[in-house]
Amino acid sequence: MRCSARVTREQARWAHSLTRSLHTHQRQHQYHSHHPSSSSRVAWSVATGVAAAATYTIMSQTVASCEAEPARQPSSSSSSSTSSSPSHSSSLASCHAALNSLLGDRFSLDASDLASHGADAYSYHKGGSSAGEGENARMPSAVVFPLTTEEVSEIVKICAKHRVNMIPYGSGTSLEGHTTAPSGGVCIDLSRMCSIKRLNASDLDVVVEAGMSWNNLNAELSEHGLFYPVDPGPGASIGGMIGTSCSGTNAVRYGTMKQNVINLTVVLPDGSIVHTGQRARKSSAGYDLTRLFIGSEGTLGIVTEATLRLQPLPESIAVATCSFDSLRSASEAVQEIMQKGVRINCVELLDDGCMRAVNAYAGLNYPEKAATLFFKFSGSKATVNDEVDATATITAKHGAGPFTFATDAQARDKIWEARKGALWACIAYRDGAEAWTTDVCVPISHLADCIQATKQDLLELPAKLTPVGEPPVSFPTAVVGHVGDGNFHVMMMMDPSNPRELHLAQQVNERMVRRAISMEGTCTGEHGVGVGKKKYLREELGTEAIQLMRTIKRAIDPYNLMNPGKVFDMDDEENVQRGKTLIITDRNNSK
Ligand SMILES: Cc1cc2nc3c(=O)[nH]c(=O)nc-3n(C[C@H](O)[C@H](O)[C@H](O)COP(=O)(O)OP(=O)(O)OC[C@H]3O[C@@H](n4cnc5c(N)ncnc54)[C@H](O)[C@@H]3O)c2cc1C
Repeated sequence: MRCSARVTREQARWAHSLTRSLHTHQRQHQYHSHHPSSSSRVAWSVATGVAAAATYTIMSQTVASCEAEPARQPSSSSSSSTSSSPSHSSSLASCHAALNSLLGDRFSLDASDLASHGADAYSYHKGGSSAGEGENARMPSAVVFPLTTEEVSEIVKICAKHRVNMIPYGSGTSLEGHTTAPSGGVCIDLSRMCSIKRLNASDLDVVVEAGMSWNNLNAELSEHGLFYPVDPGPGASIGGMIGTSCSGTNAVRYGTMKQNVINLTVVLPDGSIVHTGQRARKSSAGYDLTRLFIGSEGTLGIVTEATLRLQPLPESIAVATCSFDSLRSASEAVQEIMQKGVRINCVELLDDGCMRAVNAYAGLNYPEKAATLFFKFSGSKATVNDEVDATATITAKHGAGPFTFATDAQARDKIWEARKGALWACIAYRDGAEAWTTDVCVPISHLADCIQATKQDLLELPAKLTPVGEPPVSFPTAVVGHVGDGNFHVMMMMDPSNPRELHLAQQVNERMVRRAISMEGTCTGEHGVGVGKKKYLREELGTEAIQLMRTIKRAIDPYNLMNPGKVFDMDDEENVQRGKTLIITDRNNSK
């Protein structure tokens, strides 16, 4: 049964407002007893109610629809068995019984828990093994809610003993089908591990549990004059952010997760617990295990704690916006700002489609020109003023309209809200649509060409792909970019049940990704690979690099139990086609 994440405008609006109250929910949750009822799950899980919207449609699903887990051999003999048998059903039942006995009411077979965890709320990819396989969605067989690293370790040992897949889960805001369960498994939801373990204010670092959201962390840190700069989807958890190697609006100034994590505590696929480093700011001691796990999308282990690098809250913040008649002019302005070394915190680009959605959603009246840039500056009052002046000068030179800026908190929030609510505004723009959100990143010198060509596709492909004699199909689209890093997203508000809309969206995505790769860019700047970008990862990095990733995966997770089917497949497609399974346990000894 398919779990639909389609939402109405009202649900999207509710989702957005729920995000604002997430902080309160998670705090309450931290201090009160833990009851995995489906209603509380819906309230605090995903930071928006889109998952809840999905839940409503699937309440009637029975647990019996969850299939037995497949048999599993170590990858040295077979990497991807998919058969199921009575003995494997009983193994799954034994696994469930052991988890139930360990966790009590924190082990759930509730249909709404399975549904809200098995379908990515915001992702068009619903669990099939590649883009366009939404109908193949599968749910996890159970959801568990651990409270400590040791408990995660016990859960993993039980699953490993019974060869049952495990899908780590933070807040479910990822966008490429990351938390779906294409081959079933137990979903390990870390959201109840959401406290600060230790704040080292004088060292500018903090140790947090993996289920803590960045918003809640920042609310706590603000009392100490500190903040954590990585800001992906509202409500995203630190564990999930490590999983996707995410970034956000602040990355142009402060970097991504790769630069802002000091060490990790990770439970490996056999249940052992590793610490990847101490608290020192730099270290040349051995392999960089911390960064091995950042971006591994839950395929190598479960992060339970992280030490994060903090920043002091700036003395002064300003926010500014201006619009352009062409995407190219806006992109070239950004390129010059970066080349001149103006220290901006954020520079975000929204195209006319996005501004229409934002205006309609929030009752605003921004110009709906080809491109609008939103800037954030921070530092001392004097440096902020200098940076604002330099930016205004450069944008005017590239033909921008009036440059509006604000320094007081209320006016700043009003301007910035337009940017932060963009995805919800887009989802709400077309009633009942699903948003397919895709991202690429290119060297900044290619940004103008890449955005311009993508926009051209959005305008021209509907007619080009229309069979003779039929009316063209189309859907609202939006381009949004963290353009200071050369990173931009396209959101397509489409009806996937319409095959022509689906085909159009697939073509836009494919052409955009291949264009970015051809410009020495990447198939994903920050959303990660999940199931949606697997084939492009191979195109971007080549077979040898994927083989190396498989070798690492096999060494750490020989039974392919951790979030299988994500990032890359364990079988080499070409060898499977030739009737062989390529096994690599040792690159010098591969069969
Ligand atoms: C409105 C909106 C705006 C967004 N904006 C941005 C943006 O600006 N920048 C950006 O980069 N992304 C953005 N995203 C995407 C999303 O917020 C990020 O991908 C985020 O990092 C996901 O965190 P999560 O807790 O929701 O992870 P989940 O979706 O729960 O999981 C993501 C992946 O990490 C794995 N995982 C989760 N927890 C753990 C753990 N403890 N240990 C190991 N693996 C784990 C999962 O198995 C999965 O593969 C946006 C999403 C939305 C909905």
